[in-house]
Amino acid sequence: MGATHEQEGEAAFQGLPAEAVRSFVRGFRGDVVTPTDEGYDDARAIWNGMIDKYPALVARCAGVSDVVSAVDFAREHDLPLAVRGGGHNVAGTAVCNGGVVVDLSAMNGVRVDRERRTVHAEGGATLGDVDRETQLFGLATALGAVSQTGIAGLTLNGGYGHLSREYGLALDNLVSVDIVTADGHVRTASENRNEDLFWAVRGGGGNFGVVTTFEYDLHEVGPEVYAFFAWFHADDADATMAAFREWTETAPRNAGVLAFTAHVPELEEFPEETWGEPAIAFLGSARGDSADGEVYDSLRKSATPIVDMSGPMAYVDLQSMLDEDYPDGLRYYWKSVFLEEVTDEVFDLMIRYNESAPSALSTIDCWHLGDAVADVPRDATAFWHRDKPYMLTVEANWEDADDDDANVNWAREVFADVQALSVASGRYGNFPGLNEDPTKLLYGDNYERLVEVKTEYDPENLFRMNQNVAPRTDTK
Ligand code: FAD
Repeated sequence: MGATHEQEGEAAFQGLPAEAVRSFVRGFRGDVVTPTDEGYDDARAIWNGMIDKYPALVARCAGVSDVVSAVDFAREHDLPLAVRGGGHNVAGTAVCNGGVVVDLSAMNGVRVDRERRTVHAEGGATLGDVDRETQLFGLATALGAVSQTGIAGLTLNGGYGHLSREYGLALDNLVSVDIVTADGHVRTASENRNEDLFWAVRGGGGNFGVVTTFEYDLHEVGPEVYAFFAWFHADDADATMAAFREWTETAPRNAGVLAFTAHVPELEEFPEETWGEPAIAFLGSARGDSADGEVYDSLRKSATPIVDMSGPMAYVDLQSMLDEDYPDGLRYYWKSVFLEEVTDEVFDLMIRYNESAPSALSTIDCWHLGDAVADVPRDATAFWHRDKPYMLTVEANWEDADDDDANVNWAREVFADVQALSVASGRYGNFPGLNEDPTKLLYGDNYERLVEVKTEYDPENLFRMNQNVAPRTDTK
């Protein structure tokens, strides 16, 4: 019998030269947690309770020099290396078995530059960390929709949220990054410095190094916006989904909406007689001249809602209103595919599979994308699937490990059926299942250029715990 992953973590640690470990720990400003330390299980735990990995060391970095030391240590001792930003990637790539976790969670400083209208955020910051600071000045950058998510994974792989149809993906808002590459050097990448690296990190995920600082452009947002949040009976799907399709075809850029199928939660905001019923819900937000919320009238009036919780709301509250739906330690398996159109078949499938979901916590989400995201040419950054107006995401969310197979299989069945539709193509790197899809599906015609940049900056593939772009091996 081979070693268990638990033994693998311990064995890899014990196999390291003791003096090298002592010297690494001595020079480290943050904490180094090893398999024999009391806090080891906490240090290796991430958001998705499905993930149970045993690293040799968790290097909780306190600054850029710690990141450099940890990268150097992993490279010199030929250890697998994982990078943890916000720890919210569903595939669990923020940890690894038998290697080093470069954990940036303590590096979450945020500084707003009011004059330049930019914000600098460290690589372990969450969306909430950034939004709270920028909203002090009535400013925001385009990030995602759940405040506990890390900016790092979100931005490096794309970043869709309430502001994206107006201001683009999170990565479209990047001005520069500071990054520790595989050789342990600290580099700055921007439009006029290490341009190839800047092109690659905007969509190429964690393949190119550890980003220690992200600098983003800021826009005037809020502090109050209009939040649209209404739930309808699944029996009214024909009317509500037709209204959604029509709405997306004429929507202004300063308003957005996401449609999802779900089960009515057992919460006091919902009439008790509807608890557990299959439903369709809309979540959106509007700003500027759409901030009175009238833009949502056609959706709101498409059927009689179970409940309509819409109204003015602080932008930071909008950004955190879904947080409690995604607690740490629950079990998650999510996959996504882009759609050219939202046909009746897509809606039928959402309704049908919602009814058969083994867990009432699961949802099937239809995102409306495009506009500012699609304005950017597909080869301007590594992010390829800009032209797709919609994305379907299957979110299997459940509590009990005994139900893993039923829930993962359900999500895979939904996914296989969507994928078979002629309107479906590509993948989004931030909802990656367990990273079982070919990386090329993310990058389309940008893939070869990514291989070139990877070969230059990480020829030994040190950064491979991700949707890996393998370097060329014939580098002559
Ligand atoms: P981590 O798990 O910490 O990291 C994931 C990977 O990113 C790592 O394996 C590594 O390869 C890389 N990485 C992390 N930090 C760094 C760094 N500093 N430098 C270099 N590489 C790094 N996505 C959207 O687009 N819009 C949403 O609204 C949205 N909502 C979400 C809500 C929830 C509850 C969750 C769990 C996810 C959501 N996502 C959304 C997906 C989210 O963008 C990804 O899960 C993303 O990977 C999370 O980033 P993280 O830093 O927390 O991930």
